Order: sequence, then C-alpha cells, then structure tokens
Amino acid sequence: MLKEISLGLAVALLIFAAAAGYNILPLVMLSLLGGTLYFIAYNKGMITNFTGTEKTSSHKINFDDIGGQATAIKELRECLDFIKNEDKVKKLGIRPLKGILLTGPPGTGKTLLAKAAANYTDGVFLSCSGSEFVEMYAGVGAQRVRKLFSSAKEKAKKQGKKNSIIFIDEVEILGAKRGKNFSHMEYDQTLNELLVQMDGLKVDDSVRLLVMAATNRADMLDDALLRPGRFDRQVKVELPDRQGRYEILKIHTRNKPLADDVDLNMVAKETFGFSGAHLESLTNEAAILAMRENCSKIHYQHLQEAIDKVIMGEKLDRRPSREELFRVAVHETGHALASEMVSPGSVSTLTVTPRGGALGYMRQHNEEDSYLYTREHLENQIAVMLAGALAEELVLGNRSTGSANDFEKAFETAEKIIKSGLSDLGIVSWDSLPQEKKYKEIKNILNHQEKRVMEYLQKKKKVIEETAGRLMEKEKVTGEEFRTIVQKIIA
Ligand code: ADP
Repeated sequence: MLKEISLGLAVALLIFAAAAGYNILPLVMLSLLGGTLYFIAYNKGMITNFTGTEKTSSHKINFDDIGGQATAIKELRECLDFIKNEDKVKKLGIRPLKGILLTGPPGTGKTLLAKAAANYTDGVFLSCSGSEFVEMYAGVGAQRVRKLFSSAKEKAKKQGKKNSIIFIDEVEILGAKRGKNFSHMEYDQTLNELLVQMDGLKVDDSVRLLVMAATNRADMLDDALLRPGRFDRQVKVELPDRQGRYEILKIHTRNKPLADDVDLNMVAKETFGFSGAHLESLTNEAAILAMRENCSKIHYQHLQEAIDKVIMGEKLDRRPSREELFRVAVHETGHALASEMVSPGSVSTLTVTPRGGALGYMRQHNEEDSYLYTREHLENQIAVMLAGALAEELVLGNRSTGSANDFEKAFETAEKIIKSGLSDLGIVSWDSLPQEKKYKEIKNILNHQEKRVMEYLQKKKKVIEETAGRLMEKEKVTGEEFRTIVQKIIA
C-alpha cells in the first residue's frame, strides 16, 4: 500500500516538475535504471519481504493462558520435553523432533500453543503464514524459506538462546499436495525447499530448530510433509467442550470486573460450538456494552447480549414495519414453542432485534454438548426448524420468505438422517440412491414433523399471541419469561 502511494506521489512530482519547466529526463532515466535493478534482484529472490516477526518481547504466553486444550497441551509438552532433555536424547541416539503439526478449526488456540511452546523451551519465536511464501516469480518462495530458517538461527544466537521455534500458520497454502497447482512449479519449489531445510536439521546444531505448523485442512497436505522425520507429530486442537469453554471464559475475564449475577458456567452452557477466539471476543464485547451503559461491572445481561452479537452480528438500524415485526415475533415464538416441546427448558432467549442477516431469532442452550445424534434428536431439530413457518400460517393465515433458510437446514438434516442409515430406507448409499427416492424420503420425514408440530401449535395459539405481543413491546423475552407464559396459559 505504502509502495503504491509513494509511486503515485513520485509520478505526480515528476509531472509537476515537467509542467514547471524543469528538465526531468535525467531523473526519469535514473528511476528506470533503479526500477530495473530492483526487479531483477526481487526476481532472483535477493530481496525478500518476509515479514516473520519475532514475538518474544510482549507478554509471554504460558500453557496456563490456554483453556480447554488439556490433551493438546499434554501431547505438546511431551514433544517439547525431547528438546529440553537434549542430552538424554543424544545419548540414546534418538532422531531429533523436527516438526509438530497442529490441526483443528480456526481460533482454537494453535498460535497460542506455538507461542507457549517457545516460552516453555525458552526459545525464540518466529511466526509467519503460508501465504507469505506464495509469489508469482519462480524461486522467491524457496528463497524466503531459506531466509526464514537462517534468521531463526541467527536470532537465537544473538539472544544467546539454544532453541528457536518457527511457526507457519495456514501451512496448507505452502504445503499442498505437489503437482496440483495450476500455473508453474513455484509452489512445488517452495515446498521442496521446506522439506530440504527440515531434513537438514541435526541434533548437534548449535541452535535447535523446531517447526510448528497449523492447518485446518490436514487432508490437503503433501504426504512428504507428514513423513517420519518431518511433521511426524500431529496434535489435534479441537473446539472446546463445555468445561473448556468455562476455562477459557475464566482466562479472558481475569482482568474484567464481573458483577455477582454472572455465572460463567451458564455462559459456557449457552455457547456450544464457540471457539476460543469467539469466547475472547464475547468477553470483550460484554465489557464494551457495560461501558456504553456506564456500568462499573459486567452483568449477566451484557454477556447475554454479547453472545447474540458474536453469533448474529451487530444490531442493524433497519426497522421492520409493525406488521413485519409481528410476523417475525410469531415466527420466533413458533421456534421457541417447538423447542420447549422437544426439550423442556431449552429456550434461552427470543429476540426480534434485527442483527446481521436476521430479523430476529431464538437461541437455545444445550444441557450437554453432543457430537452423535439419534434419529429422534435429528427429527426434533427438524420440528424446531419448521415451527417458525407453521406458526406464521396458524396465526397470520400465510407463510413468508423468512423461512427459506429454515427449510434449507431442515432439508440438510433430513439428508443426514438418510445418509446415516437412520431413515425408513435403512442403510443406503446416498450416491447410488435415485433422485426420486431421495426426494420422497426427505418429504416423508418433513411431512411427518410438519404434522406433529402443527398439532402442537394449534393447542398453543394463545401462547404465540401473548409472547409475540410481549416481543413487540420489549424486543426480547428470556427463556424463563417464556416458560412462565406457557405455564400461565396452561393453568
Ligand atoms: P488459531 O491459531 O487456532 O487460529 P489463535 O491461537 O490465533 O487461534 O487464537 C486467537 C485468539 O483467540 C487468541 O489470541 C486468544 O485470545 C483466543 N483463544 C483461542 N483459543 C484459546 C484458548 N484455548 N484459550 C484461551 N484463549 C484462546
């Protein structure tokens, strides 16, 4: 960016000078010569703009600063102890550990783990991303890899350290399977250079280098990278479970004043599927909301609103008409009623505040994190998804386009039932199942749930009307308030 601005300014200056009557020919010739020399040097990889930055000065990350990754930390520590106990390793003739691959979804703490590893081994930490090695010109990427390895060694020597950790984020960009890239062989050369550099690492080098790489697409990596002697250790860094989320929330609220009504366990319960990065952002957003409201402490309601914000995005200024708002309120109440029908106590909040891409939504909290589902569970999910449109039909007499997304998800879930062999068709191969049969079975599953939900909603029409009215007034109804309305109308 800076380059473009300076170039623009230089050209403008030249034009100005020419207009003012100066002889600019020598200057133009000189710039051309300089430009050509730069181009040649860059092309040959003599100039690199490798931006791997050393991050040893700022706050040092410890394994204690990483929540919910006990297994990954344990595995990683075991690997790092090899480096720490170098003498033993040498005596037993063990080949040095050269690479550790961290695999898992984004935001789960892979970079943090690499930083903590550098701290644990008292080494220098250099980090870069796979995309920094991707260049148009052949050889530049390979040159950068060499530069990265040599600067890791130099920096450690300068600081009198024995270890250096190189962290390559998004390694799949640089280490994708060879021969798959369309244009020339630049990618392959870069990867080859990385392999050569890793093969060159020895136990008796004065500075021990360890390459840590992170990816969420381990399947894309070239087999040569995963061969013994290269990235031969793989550490899985998964999304945190409920206890993990609780630990991460504790870490990120250490420096934040929490009011007495805050129960982090409850927040952990409501944030299934959140990564560490999401949780960090959630605590930060809650603090911002507290500040906006001039509160000296963060209250539970701030955390609740922050969850909505992280899931759905910032509140929108766009206000639907009263008629539309009532429709949204009815729709969301439909979802909530079905959610209570299949799992009592599961509704967390109902809102009709437009955020991100949605005009309103109903949030549930799960009793337990679950990773495997039965047919009944999936059918219940479909019931909740269809309930919005059905409530609209029941109360307003027609449906709207607002349900398109729900139907799409319901279709996907029905597909999942069939693919997992849980449908009436039994165990089938999805790919060889005729289109017509697939469609018929999906319709069958959806129709069944549609009928079930409609029968239930018909008995609860009054609850829908009352809750929708409350939502129009207050924009938000908590799970408890909703359950009170349901109870009251039964009584
Ligand atoms: P990744 O490298 O897996 O994409 P990062 O390590 O860069 O994720 O995490 C981004 C941010 O999210 C961190 O700076 C930290 O604030 C937060 N974070 C992620 N995972 C955790 C965790 N397990 N414990 C504490 N904080 C975390």
